[in-house]
Amino acid sequence: MKITLMARAKINWSIDVLGRREDGYHLLDMVMQSIGLWDVLTLESAREDTFCVAGRPVPANGDNLVLKAVALMREASGVSEGVAAELTKTIPVAAGLGGGSADAAAALVGLNRLWKLKYSQERLCELGGRLGADVPFMIRGGLCRAQGVGDELTPLSGGGAFHLVLLKPRKGVSTRLSYGRLRLDRLGRRPRTEALVEALKRGESRRIPELWGNGLEPGSAELCPDILKAKAALVNAGAMGALMCGSGSTVLGLFENGEQARKSAQELRKDWGFSRAVRTQSRGVTVMDEQ
Ligand code: ATP
Repeated sequence: MKITLMARAKINWSIDVLGRREDGYHLLDMVMQSIGLWDVLTLESAREDTFCVAGRPVPANGDNLVLKAVALMREASGVSEGVAAELTKTIPVAAGLGGGSADAAAALVGLNRLWKLKYSQERLCELGGRLGADVPFMIRGGLCRAQGVGDELTPLSGGGAFHLVLLKPRKGVSTRLSYGRLRLDRLGRRPRTEALVEALKRGESRRIPELWGNGLEPGSAELCPDILKAKAALVNAGAMGALMCGSGSTVLGLFENGEQARKSAQELRKDWGFSRAVRTQSRGVTVMDEQ
């Protein structure tokens, strides 16, 4: 059997940093949504394990989250048969778009089918949480509020199809280094999360920029000052507002319609490493083909 999966990236409409736990993890209140930008993962039963990656430079060894997910599922299920995995990466790396977590989520969903394990989504999310805080969200997808250390998910109904342009400086930002620069006394403008959730549910795009905010932005912008230039470039190109995605370095611009977003993404492409018009989505990992 061969399964092909779509592993969608995410954006954060807000990251509110509420404090720090004694173990060093930050307490967060975030609103996340899947977007129309994805990696493709194929999984096929095989005599022995093989893995290849195309599209973007990420490790093709045991450090890759796909192989970590295979090892975890094997340990949880006791299945010993081999799997041939092929990953085609489109999601930029170290971009704040959760590419690695999306791939891990796709591997868990795919192996659940390939090995006919019948694990519930809750069980897959529990396993995914061991691979990374964003993995459970990537499995569920859509529009969600994530609290705690990012692992307490509340799915939110509605969530219009918003039009975005993603702009990424050539330099990426490591999530670990971004959190290292986080200071609780300089979080920038805090998001108004409750009002933001209402505006998102109702599809009131014009209200969103006055309600969103990302507490990781000041620290990431120190590591990569082009983040601030990317925000300015998006607003100059007609965005209603611009906000850093996750821990950066990608920045999103919110546009009134798809046509404007596509035109602006094209104009910005010549000066920036990655510029893409995308729409928000209501699903995370999906199975594209099964044979
Ligand atoms: P996040 O927003 O989840 O914090 P990110 O989008 O900023 O993460 P990723 O692209 O997921 O960053 O990857 C960060 C690092 O994880 C990479 O430098 C890479 O070495 C490692 N990694 C492991 N597996 C993968 C994978 N399948 N895809 C991308 N990166 C991976």
